[in-house]
Amino acid sequence: MINGRPYVGRFAPSPTGRLHLGSMVAAVASYLDAKVHGGRWLVRIEDLDPTREVKGVSSDILRTLESFGLGWDGPVVYQSTRHEKYREALDSLMISGLAFGCACTRKTLAKADGSRVYPGFCRSGLPKGTAPRSWRFKMPRGVSLSWHDRVVGRQSYSPDSVGDVTLLRADGHWAYHLAVVVDDADQEVTDIVRGADLISSTAAHVGIQRALGIPKPKYAHVPLVLNAEGQKLSKQTLARPVEIKDSREVLSMVFKHLSLPEDMSSHPRDMMSSAIKHWGKKWKEEDE
Ligand code: GLU
Repeated sequence: MINGRPYVGRFAPSPTGRLHLGSMVAAVASYLDAKVHGGRWLVRIEDLDPTREVKGVSSDILRTLESFGLGWDGPVVYQSTRHEKYREALDSLMISGLAFGCACTRKTLAKADGSRVYPGFCRSGLPKGTAPRSWRFKMPRGVSLSWHDRVVGRQSYSPDSVGDVTLLRADGHWAYHLAVVVDDADQEVTDIVRGADLISSTAAHVGIQRALGIPKPKYAHVPLVLNAEGQKLSKQTLARPVEIKDSREVLSMVFKHLSLPEDMSSHPRDMMSSAIKHWGKKWKEEDE
């Protein structure tokens, strides 16, 4: 139980490419943490953008997880089936004045100052007759976006450094920040264990959760796997997909990365069971 709620963890891959070592680290870490807490571990396919989706990858991801001994609890949720929920959340933010239509094009934003943070051009409203292209979250100012991260410790971001993130994109697709917050809440996820590349996204999520009156899950951002050039493994950096036939070798690399003993017993399922014990010793912490 976490703050009176039964532990629910999740792994939420985007089907834009097959799983690689970096995504396996997030999968294994979230799985082990759920199991060590006696919790459920869910899988959610984040297929928000059909133009980036690679055909057949969702089922490949599920097959790979299973072969690595990572069985999920309950039905797999596909974000492509949940558009109505995102619409409801956006409507409620609009009603409370916490979402605004934005008419900026990529070009306008690129010219602004080259920074990643939205410069707030449309925050105070659009000129009469101007149609919004996208919808953004009106990140309340003057509050700190903070949480205790179980791996990296206390995190605190100013709303200015996060900015008014996109909720509904100009191409009509729902944005990750809205969908992830809505789904984690609907699936009653209590604990999010994922890669450290999403730390700054968490700051945005904390702001959206607060605006929607959603309980804040606990977060643990595990270290990223980097390639020889020091870049995060990803499709963009041409990370090699993991192969089911190499599951023991891959698991042992994942364990090494997570500072767990790399014992290669006979079956991935047994390797996972023994890793649960070690994870328990290393990571389980007092409930806050
Ligand atoms: N779908 C995201 C990704 O594959 C991860 C989202 C999350 O764990 O919150 O990078």
